[in-house]
Amino acid sequence: MTWTLLPKTPESGQPARSSVDHSGTGVGFSWDAARAELAGLPDGGLNIAFEAVDRWVAAGWGERTALRWLGKNGERREFSYADLARLSNRFANLLERLGVGRGDRVCILTGRIPELYITALGALKAGAVFCPLFSAFGPEPVRVRLVKSQARVLITTTLLYERKVRMQRNQLPDLRHILLTDGGDETGILSFQTLLAAEAEDRDPPTTRPDDRALLHFTSGTTGTPKGAIHVHDAVAAHRLTGRLALDLRPGDVYWCTADPGWVTGVSYGIVAPLANGVTLVVDESEFDARRWYSILEQEKVNVWYTAPTAIRMLMKAGTAARQGHNLDALRFMASIGEPLNPEAVLWSQDMLGQPFHDTWWQTETGAIMIANLPGLTIRPGSMGRPLPGIEAAIVRRRHGGGVDLLEPGLEGELALRVGWPSQFRDYLGDADRYRQCFVGDWYLSGDLARCDADGYFWFVGRADDVIKTAGHLIGPFEVESALLEHPAVAEVGMIGKPDEFAGQIVKAFVALKPGHEPGDALRKELLGFARTRLGPAVAPRELEFMADLPKTRSGKIMRRLLRARELGLPLGDLSTLEGEAAED
Ligand code: ATP
Ligand code: MG
Repeated sequence: MTWTLLPKTPESGQPARSSVDHSGTGVGFSWDAARAELAGLPDGGLNIAFEAVDRWVAAGWGERTALRWLGKNGERREFSYADLARLSNRFANLLERLGVGRGDRVCILTGRIPELYITALGALKAGAVFCPLFSAFGPEPVRVRLVKSQARVLITTTLLYERKVRMQRNQLPDLRHILLTDGGDETGILSFQTLLAAEAEDRDPPTTRPDDRALLHFTSGTTGTPKGAIHVHDAVAAHRLTGRLALDLRPGDVYWCTADPGWVTGVSYGIVAPLANGVTLVVDESEFDARRWYSILEQEKVNVWYTAPTAIRMLMKAGTAARQGHNLDALRFMASIGEPLNPEAVLWSQDMLGQPFHDTWWQTETGAIMIANLPGLTIRPGSMGRPLPGIEAAIVRRRHGGGVDLLEPGLEGELALRVGWPSQFRDYLGDADRYRQCFVGDWYLSGDLARCDADGYFWFVGRADDVIKTAGHLIGPFEVESALLEHPAVAEVGMIGKPDEFAGQIVKAFVALKPGHEPGDALRKELLGFARTRLGPAVAPRELEFMADLPKTRSGKIMRRLLRARELGLPLGDLSTLEGEAAED
């Protein structure tokens, strides 16, 4: 089923849209034109934080609300663009006073609190590299990332410091300063608030260059040990443009990105892209709660909402009761990122929310959205959409002797991107070999399998590591999982290949049920039959196991490698990275 979405017209009085191509075809597009829309700095300099906040202040928009923070105890704080400019100046001045400078890594380990946003912007202004760490990580993943990033400064809270850092501080020789947002001032531990208050709120414009390192993001660790991807200030050209083209951000919009800034989405689209597009950013400190989320959408009059399939599935699981009574008229555009968005979820959103979620595809390594169901284009539920202007995507197969072959429409292969977009990662920190292996000639190879149809829409098949071969067929998890998700009892599905003497591998599905459904033989048989009628016997799962919940990364992605390990009874050694990731809250 397809339908055409007509974009709502912009509110009157808003600045005109840019002249950059918006058709999704890329005709007449150039990244230099996108860069020319940035404010820039003298002598060809560029700085992400300057583009995000100071440019609006310089343009006379300083009093507009940049950040609306909703605390978990009901507090509410608003920061204007001018407030963020001043506070981030103070923090940049503070870093300089501490001797932290260009290229030094500044890590943060906090929940979604205002200090996180001040730290990000201030570190970028000081020319340091901002590296967020997800606050729910246990001590081991925190240590691994602090060591790998060679962090010079860590900003955290008293609670997180006591639980996750203090006991291992002597294993962190590069870490010179620890600043607590709610304490400090004892030996070796500084107070963020006291030091910030002592700094001047003025500061000369940053002196960073487009190719200076700016951001360090660790990948989610879905397929193995997380990699540290480095991005440069030039990335802001892509953040700003893709925010406008793929998320339809318009100055003055109220925008909510539910991703935590501990992940790349929470920075690229939870800080940089929205601010660089002059919107009001809603930040909710609390964790997921279906009723609360509907209330936020209603009460904050959210215009644009960017969330993840795992959250959408939880909303679906919560049912109609949570949705009822909430007026969502302000919502103009909704998009999804992080995992495949199954067609059922698109249809559900059309039904329950009155409009579809627009799937977008990108990775930590790409820094910004590469493929999307752009506003105004026809959505094909189950498709990730089409490449954005300036992005050349292709389906390729690696040749044995080197090089790649581009595949015809309809064929499955690895999703590749022609190098040269501004937010492309520039290194895997400490792993230059692995970085080089991602490139073949002019192409960056994503590690995801997909196919492209004759109209240029891309369809996700699975991660290269998750695809299975059974009796000569190649099967991608997405297709199988999507089919089972159509059954009313099914909340979540993860599919793996299980070794089989005759077929090589057979498909095994792990299923979590919606409330009100009980696991049992009858339901197992029903689900296997349901999948068989939809997928045919060659592709349908042969085995099905019920689980209360599927194992997920901290960013909410289903970890098929853990399901595989469990099935195969792998020794714990192979699971050690997972043990670390999954530690306490
Ligand atoms: P790691 O690289 O450490 O295994 P990860 O790949 O999950 O972790 P991220 O960079 O956060 O880390 O996630 C990007 C990946 O998420 C993509 O390569 C893809 O596999 C998946 N993904 C993101 N968006 C989509 C989407 N719209 N459809 C399907 N898959 C998606
Ligand atoms: Mg990855």
